[in-house]
Amino acid sequence: MSSAIDLYAKLKPGFDERVASALAHLRAAAERHPGTLVFTTSLGAEDMVVTDLIARHGLAIPLATLQTGRLHAETLALVPRIEARYRLKVELWEPVQEQVIQFVERHGAMAMRESIDLRKACCALRKLEPLSRALAGRTAWVTGLRREQSGARAEVPFTSTDDQGREKVAPLADWSWNDVWQYIRQYDVPYNPLHDQFYPSIGCEPCTRAVALGEDFRAGRWWWENEDAKECGLHVTTLAQKEAA
Ligand code: SF4
Repeated sequence: MSSAIDLYAKLKPGFDERVASALAHLRAAAERHPGTLVFTTSLGAEDMVVTDLIARHGLAIPLATLQTGRLHAETLALVPRIEARYRLKVELWEPVQEQVIQFVERHGAMAMRESIDLRKACCALRKLEPLSRALAGRTAWVTGLRREQSGARAEVPFTSTDDQGREKVAPLADWSWNDVWQYIRQYDVPYNPLHDQFYPSIGCEPCTRAVALGEDFRAGRWWWENEDAKECGLHVTTLAQKEAA
């Protein structure tokens, strides 16, 4: 079976410049926000690239991830791999357990499939609430968002302001999927083996499936919903968000 590297890695014109640009955005953000910047990694392929850039260049940007309690074992296994390979600690932010227990008791373990409201409620307690704690006291955060990922992300700027007034940095905004895998191949970056099984975008286990040839990048996320509903709220663009670069 072909690996994701075999399928997607491709050296395209301007690749070195895009790597240099991503690094410059990370460096500049670390200088603007000393001690108050965090990289919130989803542990997906893009975020492994950002992790490698941070580690390779010794940038003072701590890593944090949301341990929702519903991640694939393959995703969770990346945390000790990152810590061993890069000697970086990954902060794990978990939901409030009492809230999770109450939600599951009331709505069931698969409530997210029953309605968009219940799915959003699950994302709110397993992702948004822990994220708000992870970002507390921080003035900026880094994400692996790319414009190519979906229509909703087509305008993602390199830096913007979120609805809490924090700077949000997307150093890979202009990268293609081929760039991501070219970088992973070139720098031997560890990645989630689910990417080799046609999972381009990986979220929680009950809400992610493999995609078929020709399907969109995020077609395997919340596939039972229509396209307009398909964001968990972590990266919803608000009116306050403005392009700064
Ligand atoms: S992605 Fe699915 S399981 Fe994960 S928090 Fe959202 S609804 Fe819940």
